[in-house]
Amino acid sequence: MTKKVRRHSRKQMKTSDSGQTQKTMDGKLKYDSSKTHQTTGLKYLTESFILCSLNREVNKKGKGRKPDPRYRRSNPEIVKQQIQTVTGRKVIDSDLSLIGMYFEKYVEMVNLVLERVYSGEQRVEFLGDELNSYRGQGYTLLKKENYLSYKDNKDIQAQCFERMYRNVLEQAARIIYSDWMRRQLMKSAIEYVSENRPSLISLLKNKYIPFRMIKEVRAKCESIKDNGTGYYYTVSVLKQLRKSLDEYILSERGEPLGFRGYQRKRVRKYIKDKTESVAVLALVDVLLHEFETNGYPFSTPKMQSYAQDFSASTENSPGQGYWYSLDKEKDNEVIFFLKLPEPIIGKEAEGSPFRTKTICFRYLDWMPRAAAKDRVKAATAEKECKYYRAKKLRFRARKYEDMHQQLLNTTELQHATYQLTRLKNRKEKDLNRIKELQERISTLRKERRCAPPKLLLRDNRVTLQIPFQPPTREMVDEELGPRTYRRRAGADRGVRVPIVLSTRDGNGGFVDEMVPFDHLISKRDFLRGQTRKLTSQVRRMQINWERKHTKKSYPRHFLKKDRHLSAIWRKVRRLDTEIARQVASQTVWFCEEYGVRTLYFENLKNYSTPAGWGTLSWRLSSNLWSKVFDTVVYMRQSLGHKRGGVWTVSPAWTSQKCHVCGEKGIRVESKGSTDEKKGGAYFYCESCGCSLHADVNAARNIIEVHTSRPRVVAGQMTLT
Ligand SMILES: [Zn+2]
Repeated sequence: MTKKVRRHSRKQMKTSDSGQTQKTMDGKLKYDSSKTHQTTGLKYLTESFILCSLNREVNKKGKGRKPDPRYRRSNPEIVKQQIQTVTGRKVIDSDLSLIGMYFEKYVEMVNLVLERVYSGEQRVEFLGDELNSYRGQGYTLLKKENYLSYKDNKDIQAQCFERMYRNVLEQAARIIYSDWMRRQLMKSAIEYVSENRPSLISLLKNKYIPFRMIKEVRAKCESIKDNGTGYYYTVSVLKQLRKSLDEYILSERGEPLGFRGYQRKRVRKYIKDKTESVAVLALVDVLLHEFETNGYPFSTPKMQSYAQDFSASTENSPGQGYWYSLDKEKDNEVIFFLKLPEPIIGKEAEGSPFRTKTICFRYLDWMPRAAAKDRVKAATAEKECKYYRAKKLRFRARKYEDMHQQLLNTTELQHATYQLTRLKNRKEKDLNRIKELQERISTLRKERRCAPPKLLLRDNRVTLQIPFQPPTREMVDEELGPRTYRRRAGADRGVRVPIVLSTRDGNGGFVDEMVPFDHLISKRDFLRGQTRKLTSQVRRMQINWERKHTKKSYPRHFLKKDRHLSAIWRKVRRLDTEIARQVASQTVWFCEEYGVRTLYFENLKNYSTPAGWGTLSWRLSSNLWSKVFDTVVYMRQSLGHKRGGVWTVSPAWTSQKCHVCGEKGIRVESKGSTDEKKGGAYFYCESCGCSLHADVNAARNIIEVHTSRPRVVAGQMTLT
């Protein structure tokens, strides 16, 4: 990455809150994204800010010093001893690594609760059922159980204080409930495939999980409410069941298991083979019968500590426990106060409403500066007659200005509300001032404001993520001119380029665009290769060391290697963000240019890679693809498209069928060629003679997936 390319690369563009499942036009398409968020169901655009310690100079970019986001306490050792027990003793001099430890404790406690619940089958059944019909907060239900309540368990009291334990129970309740739902679904799935022979065969034979099966299993399960939430649950349950069946079949036949893709390939082959299939299905029946009588062997759920959103552990409701305050001396710098969890004492900070329970940070609100830069660039572009670029830049500037205003409004509202309560509590009430404040508050309530933030801790760096309201349609129209969106477009993950876009041009033809990013992607591949090498090196060193010196900690040069590794990972993640941003930007502006109302993406959730292809079969790994997807949704949302106007469809068959006539075509070496070549870049249809780039053909198919007739259904499964 050259300096030129790297702009605000630390900033992550992500959509938060994607937990909602969109109701679909025909029930076949699903909107989903890889992140879930616990907020209100509104869609927000999240921007990131790096937190620095309070006395740090953060606004020195370009003067030779970069902001250092690391935040450390003076003497870590003593406090560490104190916190390890987290018994409610007061701890002074706290920092984020301390809160990090606190969070680890929290995770440990959640796992302890889970262990207790899962030690008995009846306990899980009982609690799951209760939680399913219960409307209140989960912890009130859980604390009624003797083996979980705080006051009846000495060992729990010794490990944490009551307030924290309340949050622990709440989290545990959420995990128990979702696991219980999964178990119910698995029971229905087992029942369903045992009763329904053709479905069992198609589950084992097909690469995709048939849509009808997902729907029917879901309908069969009484405890799943039909509000769309169970869809991916059901897919993953069916996949899990299929995996158990595959593994059983292969191990009973005395074959090695090997990679998952390869397992699938072999089982599919056996099922298709008439002579083999009888024996294989007999094996399956044995296992299904076993599951039906003795139950499916579920594993105990566990909370993983990499979920570093520790705001969850400090306060139950995200609206509490944080406070913004503008720095009066430094422009666009915000002081951020965080309320500390119960046993930890911070320093009394000036202007903090949490008194001694405060930890404070400073961050730079980079948005006004970014907006100003964009305005300058837009003016230059205008001079050079690049009008479209100028429009784009002006729009972005407007977006950042609006977000900045949202932050200001939120801050003002916080302060005004706090002042008001203080004034009201005074003996001599200043009625005029109170009235003034009340009016101001009621206007601010109607203004655009940002949502409660989230803290992320990773590699000693702390990032504050603030969700903002996306620009309104009026704002977009003002900057970009009134627009009409009528078309549909398809986006295919290409084998040779990251993404191929296609839309109809309105005259019976198509407009296609291939988005190449070889430079950045090969750089990423190179770095990924390095991490693999280093990981195995570090692992080997560790194993050797453990063999020779048991119970001794690793020497210093091991740690150096470890740091090297995490530094490379950071680079990879930064590149990912950059690639996703650039690919998504091209995609989004292609859609704007052609007035695309709905963009169809391939859905990777119920799709598995072809056996033996690994992740190399596409130019983008699935992980990066979902990042691109998230970024596209983000950018389209900020252009005023409701929920991004992005849908996902199943990619089944889209690369094999002809987009003109729907017949199965072949791969050929070059355009116009008619000789089949496996893995060729071009597509040739023998029945209508159509010949074009294979990825373009797939992208054109994706546009039509949801409207095609069942016979040619690219992207849908017909039950066989
Ligand atoms: Zn054709």
